[in-house]
Amino acid sequence: MRNPTTRNPQPNTPIMKRIAKHLFIVMLLTIFTQVGGIIWLLCVPIFNWVNRKNSSSIQKKLIKTTAFLSIYLLLCWTLVPAFAKYGGRVALPTKYSTAFPVAPANKLFCWMNRHYVSPKMKTSLQEIALNMQEKYPDTRLQYLDANFPFLKGFPLLPHLSHNDGRKLDIAFLYQDTKTGKPINGRRISFTGYGVCEEARKGEYNQVAACAKQGGKMYSMMKKITPQNRKGMSLDEKRTTELLRNLTQHQSVTRLFIEPHLKTRLGLSGEKKIRFHGCHAVRHDDHIHIEVK
Ligand SMILES: [Zn+2]
Repeated sequence: MRNPTTRNPQPNTPIMKRIAKHLFIVMLLTIFTQVGGIIWLLCVPIFNWVNRKNSSSIQKKLIKTTAFLSIYLLLCWTLVPAFAKYGGRVALPTKYSTAFPVAPANKLFCWMNRHYVSPKMKTSLQEIALNMQEKYPDTRLQYLDANFPFLKGFPLLPHLSHNDGRKLDIAFLYQDTKTGKPINGRRISFTGYGVCEEARKGEYNQVAACAKQGGKMYSMMKKITPQNRKGMSLDEKRTTELLRNLTQHQSVTRLFIEPHLKTRLGLSGEKKIRFHGCHAVRHDDHIHIEVK
């Protein structure tokens, strides 16, 4: 007599595996893009149709990936911004213009729907960028992570507070290390994060203090980012001017940079510049701003 377990080899296992695989992908897409998980689920009937076709496994994967990416991008450039407006969020510009000299450090922020803000944040950023050009013509600002398009309280990991449209990260301004000439429109790393302006000898080292307290996430971006500065160094003059513009703007309520940079750049008296706490990520590689 045959062993019943070998005669019926758990027919539901492949289905359960497929469901688990879909759920895992949906979870990842939701964490990184917010709407990507829902769009993946919308594509499941297409995936099933492709699976029934008499093609090779590689061909099927290629067709499914192309179908998903096409539908994802189409919806992200049409329906998502249209619906986000109803919830009070608008997309930041995807490229520089004379009227709005601000763009993402990496287009991935836009492709992943991480460039949505409140209308007040958008107009404030535009005013601040144009103000910068009065003293430093040709200066263009790069933004990093902003917020997702929908749902107040939905965090944009790893930034727990970027959940209401009122938060935005901005890149520092850089200069050519050899010539001292301003650099615009070039990011210092792939994401724009992770290349840090470390505390110098004699400066208060908040990063070391947080490491002692066990803040494991604090230096996460530095750990995963190649420390190649590409001949770029912090443009202290322009970055200080940017920070002054930010603190003087009536809509900006507070901003975060590391304490040693606040002191180094002569901004100790600026009450809007605060310390973010060891539970957050370090802020000597970017500026975090918040508006009303
Ligand atoms: Zn931030």
